[in-house]
Amino acid sequence: MKSFIAANWKMNKTISETREFLREFIPLVKNVSDVDIVIAPPFTALSAAAEAMKGTNVQLAAQDIFWEEKGAFTGEVAPAMLLDAGCTHVIIGHSERRQYFHEDDAAVNKKVKAAHKAGLGVIFCFGESLGEREAGKTFDVIRREIDKGLEGIGAENLVVAYEPIWAIGTGKTASPEQAQEVHAFVRDILRRLYGSTADGLRILYGGSVTPENISALMACPDVNGGLVGGASLKTDSFAKLVCYK
Ligand code: PEP
Repeated sequence: MKSFIAANWKMNKTISETREFLREFIPLVKNVSDVDIVIAPPFTALSAAAEAMKGTNVQLAAQDIFWEEKGAFTGEVAPAMLLDAGCTHVIIGHSERRQYFHEDDAAVNKKVKAAHKAGLGVIFCFGESLGEREAGKTFDVIRREIDKGLEGIGAENLVVAYEPIWAIGTGKTASPEQAQEVHAFVRDILRRLYGSTADGLRILYGGSVTPENISALMACPDVNGGLVGGASLKTDSFAKLVCYK
């Protein structure tokens, strides 16, 4: 299975910083053929990034999407607009969207449906908080987020990302054993939803992934890639992540 490593830049980088990053980064990874490399800049830098990525092995993702096609939805961005800007993928259900912007499972599901309808690849995120883990609710939370978020969704053009909230931006990575335990559970849920197709779906791990810990995480049988925040903001560190082998 080809692995999948995505950068989530969150609310970082201007258009010129995006251009500068890609000018340095693209040559560093040009010979990588066994990893899908995806970068999600902020909306304002998507077009400039698409221009810089043209003809390269680096693909473009948005960090969010709205489910309506057009109209009076101030501040929102439609699926067709993301395609028009050059996106191939979109991140949906990130814990920061759920936490700060009150996105619930129903909203996440509508976004995934709209993205798929438009032909965009979806990076679907889920994961438990520290409180939920400590209360022994990790598996219940994950089962609910996947069942509700992916209700009525096909397996095509789908990548899923386990991101324990306690590991995002905290420097606390899940150990390879903790990641594998959840990823194996997720694989079973995906088998229930998609049958044997689930064995070919990429399950990413996200949460303080760095060039130092990526090899151990990627050695887990059900970890098929990474979703990277902080360590994707510098060219050398994201290039090292992509070239982890
Ligand atoms: C993320 O936001 O998806 C993420 C995993 O962030 P970080 O790598 O900084 O923990």
